[in-house]
Order: sequence, then structure tokens, then C-alpha cells
Amino acid sequence: MKTLTILTSTILLSVSNLMAQDDFNQWFLDRTLRIDYNAICTRDSAEGMYTSLTTSEGWGGERHIVDHCPHYGTYYMELSDATSGKVLYTYSYNTLSYEWQSTITEKDETKTFTESAIMPMPRKAAVINIYRHDSCNIYSKFISKKINLSLETKNAPQKYSETILQATTDVDPINITILPEWYGDNQMDKFLNDAKKLAQWLTNSEPYNKYSNRFTINVVMPNKEAMMTRALNLKTSLGFNFNTFNIERYIASFNTKSIYDLAQSTAFRHIIILINTDQYGGSGFYNYYTCLCIDNEYSQELFLHEFGHAFAGLGDEYEKDVTYNVEPSQCELMAPNLTNLTDFKSKWADYIDKNAPIPTPKNRTDIEVGAFEGGGYCSKGVYRPSANCRMRYKDYNHYCKICTQIIEETIIAQTEWQK
Ligand SMILES: [Zn+2]
Repeated sequence: MKTLTILTSTILLSVSNLMAQDDFNQWFLDRTLRIDYNAICTRDSAEGMYTSLTTSEGWGGERHIVDHCPHYGTYYMELSDATSGKVLYTYSYNTLSYEWQSTITEKDETKTFTESAIMPMPRKAAVINIYRHDSCNIYSKFISKKINLSLETKNAPQKYSETILQATTDVDPINITILPEWYGDNQMDKFLNDAKKLAQWLTNSEPYNKYSNRFTINVVMPNKEAMMTRALNLKTSLGFNFNTFNIERYIASFNTKSIYDLAQSTAFRHIIILINTDQYGGSGFYNYYTCLCIDNEYSQELFLHEFGHAFAGLGDEYEKDVTYNVEPSQCELMAPNLTNLTDFKSKWADYIDKNAPIPTPKNRTDIEVGAFEGGGYCSKGVYRPSANCRMRYKDYNHYCKICTQIIEETIIAQTEWQK
């Protein structure tokens, strides 16, 4: 009976996904459209300036009409049909610029960031609107661009790739592309082995292991010769450096155009950059990129922490980070695993332990899910679901129950069609 139920639901799922693909194919080509723009930021303001559109073979994201994924990012992008106004695709993401704004104290300091957003390539003329939210989650229009399909697109430069993990289900796969950074002469084999090691970390860890057959992972090499001989200088220049925002371990790149240029020879939804060093460091931006130093003793834990940010929009559950000028917000927080209790119902209020006091006192270690004070770089006024989680401690090797649930929901939203 159990087998029959599983079989029936598998068939229903396949039919649903086929229907979604029909809809998708009506509106989209199997190509990726990328918009690049500049975000010109001061501490208190941000202005968007369109720079270019590019297209490339294959689309690695969901094949749903209108994205069903939740929106936890600073940015919200909407692609609409130019004639009817029908919303065809939506997408949310985070970049470095919003974080930078919370690190500076000089009101007049200005910095320009190059940023990108991806979407499936529409068959007909369409409009891209990108919105950016303020600290109270009010979205303002940031970029608006009409797409004249014949005049404004060009092909992305071709690179070379190899598949190291292939999804084996009927649902839409989650496509991850891994890029090399700081790899030198004769280190192609090391890069491939590092990428395979990371694929195992992902597919062996909860809760990803329950859905490991839904992931496809590609690696990209910068040039054909490197692919053929595996012996050339692969040192890339994606712009990664330590000490981002004066945090020593914080490695990130402001050159996201180069990252997307390199990734775009594959169909991708998520990008992971491996930094070839044994130092400790990494970063993760929701629906943008994850990077990590691959040879450190904590690399596996660090990867799963940073991928929690990049894949599921999870916020940091730790308290102190002197770099950020974060004040507890008057409005509910964006990260799904943090709350200031102004709208707890929209968070995990329905999943707290029976009789858990809210806020939950520190000493109530018997409570699995409550609202423990401290998180999002604030010791007061911000609450997290559990006492311990890998989004709080680098050497705690589990996600808490709520973070686990959010990751599972994200996997399902990205792979299964829902009405
Ligand atoms: Zn958590």
C-alpha cells in the first residue's frame, strides 16, 4: 500500500511537472537572460543604472510560470510580458551592496557595485523590473528595462564544463555550477577533486541528502586548453579577497560580472566558487553566490553555513560582529530564521514547542523550537528558533529544526511544480 501511494504521487508529480514545462515552453526559450547594472550606493540611498543584457544556452532554474519560491532577498525581480503585462517570472536575491551600507558610518561615502540578475529568456518582448527594499521591507523600483529581443542581446563567451553529479528524477533539477579561484599550474585535477568533495558534503548532509537525486553539479574551466591538458595555469581572476568589510575571514568578490561570465557556459541556478587555500573564510549571498576556502579543517561546516545563506536565504544566528551597524529593526526581518517578534506569526510561531515561553529563556535547553534572544548581529531584540544551529556556531554540525524545514521547502519549491 505504501509503495502504491508513493508510486501514485510520483506519477502525479511527473504529470504536474510536464504541465508546468508546457507552460514554460510557451513563454520561454531554453536560454538564460542576464541583466547587468550598477548599484550606486551611499549609506542611506541606492540608485540603479542599467548596463547590459546577455543571453546564453540553457536555463538552469525552475521551469514554473511565476516562481513559487519565497522572497527573502534585498532585491525582487519581476519579468512581465510587454503586451499583456502578465507576470512571467519572479526572483529574489541578495548582493554585497546592501551589506556594505550597514558597515559604513560616513553619510556621504559613495560606492558603485556591478550586479547581475538571471531569468529564463522570454520568447516575446518583455519588461524587467527590479525592486530594492529599505529597512522596513518597502520595495522601490530600482531598474526598469524593456527587452527588445533582436537588438539588445548577445551571446555570452563560451567556456568548458564537465558534469560531476547528474540529477536522476523527473522533477526540475537544482543546477549548481562550481568555479575555480586561485588554482595554479597543474591544479586542474585538484580542482575537480575539490568539487567532487564538495558535492559529497552537500549530498551527504541533512536535509540535502533526502533530495540528493535532485541536484546536478557542473564545474567550469576557464579555457579549452585547461580542459584538454589539465596542466595549464588555471589561476582565475574572479576578484576574491579576504578582509571584506574589515572582517578577516570574510572572503568575497565585488567583480560579480566575471563570476557570471564564467558560470554562464552552463545552465545554472546556484554558483559556488572554490578558493584554493587552507585559510579560513567564505561568504554566501541569497540566490547570488557561495564561496569558500576549500582546504581548511572547517571547510565542510563553513560550506554548509554559507550555502544556508545562499540557497535558502537563512540569516546569521550569531550576535556580535563589530563591523555591522545593525540596530534591531522596527519592522519584521527578511531572513526566515530570524524575527524581532513584530510579526512572529509570519515566521515559525506555528512550529514552536508546546508551552514554549516567548521569548524563550536561555536556560530552557529542553525547548527545541522557541524564540531565543540573540541573532542577526544583535544581542537584544532579535530572536532565533533554537539555542544551537550551524547558522550560529561553525562547529555545531546541524541546522536547527526551523532552518532544516526552510531548506527542505526551498528544495521542493525549486524542483516541484505547484499551483
Ligand atoms: Zn537555525
